[in-house]
Amino acid sequence: MAATLSTLAYLVAAVLFILALRGLSHPTTSRQGNLYGMIGMGIAIVATLLRPGMGGGGVGLIILALAIGGGAGAYIATRIQMTALPQLVAAFHSLVGLSAVFVAAAAFYAPESFGIGHSGNIHGGSLVEMSLGLAIGAITFSGSVIAFAKLQALMSGAPITFKGQHWLNLGLGILLLVLIIAFVASGSAGLFWLIAILAFALGFLLIIPIGGADMPVVVSMLNSYSGWAAAGIGFTLSNLLLIVTGALVGASGAILSYIMCKGMNRSIINVLLGGFGTDAGGAAAGGGGDGDRAPVKAGSPEDAAYIMKNAQKIIVVPGYGMAVAQAQQVLREMGDLLKKEGAQVEYAIHPVAGRMPGHMNVLLAEANVPYEDVKELEEINPEFAEADVAFVIGANDVTNPAAKTDKSSPIYGMPILDVERAKTVFFIKRGMASGYAGVDNELFFRPNTMMLFGDAKKVTQEIVQALQK
Ligand code: NAP
Repeated sequence: MAATLSTLAYLVAAVLFILALRGLSHPTTSRQGNLYGMIGMGIAIVATLLRPGMGGGGVGLIILALAIGGGAGAYIATRIQMTALPQLVAAFHSLVGLSAVFVAAAAFYAPESFGIGHSGNIHGGSLVEMSLGLAIGAITFSGSVIAFAKLQALMSGAPITFKGQHWLNLGLGILLLVLIIAFVASGSAGLFWLIAILAFALGFLLIIPIGGADMPVVVSMLNSYSGWAAAGIGFTLSNLLLIVTGALVGASGAILSYIMCKGMNRSIINVLLGGFGTDAGGAAAGGGGDGDRAPVKAGSPEDAAYIMKNAQKIIVVPGYGMAVAQAQQVLREMGDLLKKEGAQVEYAIHPVAGRMPGHMNVLLAEANVPYEDVKELEEINPEFAEADVAFVIGANDVTNPAAKTDKSSPIYGMPILDVERAKTVFFIKRGMASGYAGVDNELFFRPNTMMLFGDAKKVTQEIVQALQK
């Protein structure tokens, strides 16, 4: 009876997790999605504690672990900066990977407790699941630690490459497979730990050639791996819910990586082979022109305020720099003031603006920008031709026409926001530095462009002050 009830509760939790994913796919329903996820997890925890065979001591230990893990999670979540989310996610994934390794080790050394056979005589199927969970978990752990270190600037974000690197990784990958087959055939403890060591090394080697700027794709891929590792462990533990949630995380992480690659017009193989991109968050290079091109036209916040006061239609294009400067609140204030002046103000979101999917949507929602003013690329692009002003705040690559014209450019083929069609284009950035892809943006030199040099928040605050005069 208790077993049936627990299975039923797991099923309800699994449905709630699916509803959570569905909810998270749109800003208007994302809070609700989070709520579904939290209720689902609550049900899953209670159902696990009430499972038959769960001794009092076990329950006590689980509650202690929950209190420590939950406390640490809540503490970190309240303090984390929005821009530091990618590395936080990477750090959390490393823990999922490590726990998969620990569960595999526990199942290997105490198979009776898991009902998968006896020491030295573990069921063949369980050895397969265990070794896969172990290998994927270990790769996820060391890969995520490197991703965290690169994103947190604890190590250089530049790709670390050497001759024969891909062949070495391929060779080690094949060796890992061979070891897994030998382990399943023999059940040897030595092979178990060899798999762990090799997989840890492989996780490390696979991630070091990937540039800091490509890390968001890698983090989402490691997210996918951690899901598959959890699903593998779910089989070992015969835990239906772990299998379902692991598969959900695995599939959604893979889809997210695919969407990001599509938005950047790169293949996942191209990202994984690494060597692209330099240190993330390139420094300001100071204003001015570049050698043989026309000098850039730099304006003041007062100039921008004057032009926008007289504009009918303004399209705001936020990018990574807005996130760095945390300029979203003051940007909304600016939008409100301009609306009061009678202008139509819309916000154009590029699918890969910022450094993680939905980055701009989340920040604008946090600043209470109305959802109906926020437009996706396909919807807003035809409108630039009718706009008086394109207000590009901390965005660069997502506006770069080289993506349409220069076949040799790393961003060639990436869909871009056609800001240059607006009568006047403002670029708010600190200097002439390139963005994530490391390529120049010729729009800075166009006659209808005015550069507003400075920190995005500071410049926008000054525009707000000028608008209020
Ligand atoms: P971007 O091309 O990286 O440009 C951001 C610009 O912001 C920089 O040129 C920088 O110029 C400026 N900036 C930085 N800090 C600033 C501050 N405090 N105030 C004002 N400006 C500041 O960003 P994007 O246009 O948003 O494009 C995103 C890029 O990331 C794309 O190439 C995309 O492929 C890539 N990417 C995105 C994702 C994703 O999921 N969203 C994932 C992986 C990769 P200055 O230094 O001169 O100020």
